[in-house]
Amino acid sequence: MRIFDPHVHMTSRTTDDYEAMAAAGVRAVVEPAFWLGQPRTSPGSFADYFDALIGWEPFRAGQFGIRHFATIALNPKEANDPRCREVLELVPRYLDKDAVVAVGEIGYDSMTPLEDLAFAAQLALAVEFDLPALVHTPHRDKVRGTQRSLDVVKESGIDPGRVVIDHLNEVTVELVRDSGCWLGFSIYPDTKMSPPRMVELLRRHGTDRMLVNSAADWGRSDPLLTRRTGEAMLAAGFGEDDVDRVLWRNPVEFYGQSGRLDLSDADAPADFAGNSIKRGGA
Ligand SMILES: [Zn+2]
Repeated sequence: MRIFDPHVHMTSRTTDDYEAMAAAGVRAVVEPAFWLGQPRTSPGSFADYFDALIGWEPFRAGQFGIRHFATIALNPKEANDPRCREVLELVPRYLDKDAVVAVGEIGYDSMTPLEDLAFAAQLALAVEFDLPALVHTPHRDKVRGTQRSLDVVKESGIDPGRVVIDHLNEVTVELVRDSGCWLGFSIYPDTKMSPPRMVELLRRHGTDRMLVNSAADWGRSDPLLTRRTGEAMLAAGFGEDDVDRVLWRNPVEFYGQSGRLDLSDADAPADFAGNSIKRGGA
């Protein structure tokens, strides 16, 4: 099983995670810039973080044979802090970098006017730099947040086929299905989406434009839940080709729209039994 995790915060993870992910079939990841838990108080902290996302973290991933790409943005939560506003002027410098495959995470946390400004400004940057956009939907008031996100995406003029609306669930899936945007699902250990619920959604809505991620970060999360979802798909009667489509070809197609997704040697079809698994990995 070859796996591309399209949303995972490796900065918060250890080398044990990288090792287990590689053994489970993860060959490539996208790490979106996000809120680190501890609020940042100056744009300099963001510059150092963005540099780590395109420098240090790809180096760490490479030690385990995993390709690492990033998305860069001022996240919705910190868009509310006036001390972080200048980050919007910093973002374009990073959108020129080869390792950056989208603008993100953008979107809403509490749906404030400052979040409106940062969201619209960064969708405009996605259009200007000809990059896809990764849109985070709020964990509270999700239906209203998702609908409003879709409205803002529409107003921006960006091609919906270049936008993924992430952290969806059973309640928001249909809103996004009809919009032409890609659908992102974050699988968590004990809250929100689980592998069996994800399988049910794939059964009901098909595999087209569907992206599955672990969104693993500094909270309770599990970077192997992409693999577990693939296994749950197989157990439920999906074929190996369906699993490969959801866990590899879909994220490759979505982020490939950046023109920067260099996966040479990483994308050879896998021995489906997974050689590394036989060695005693995950
Ligand atoms: Zn995230």
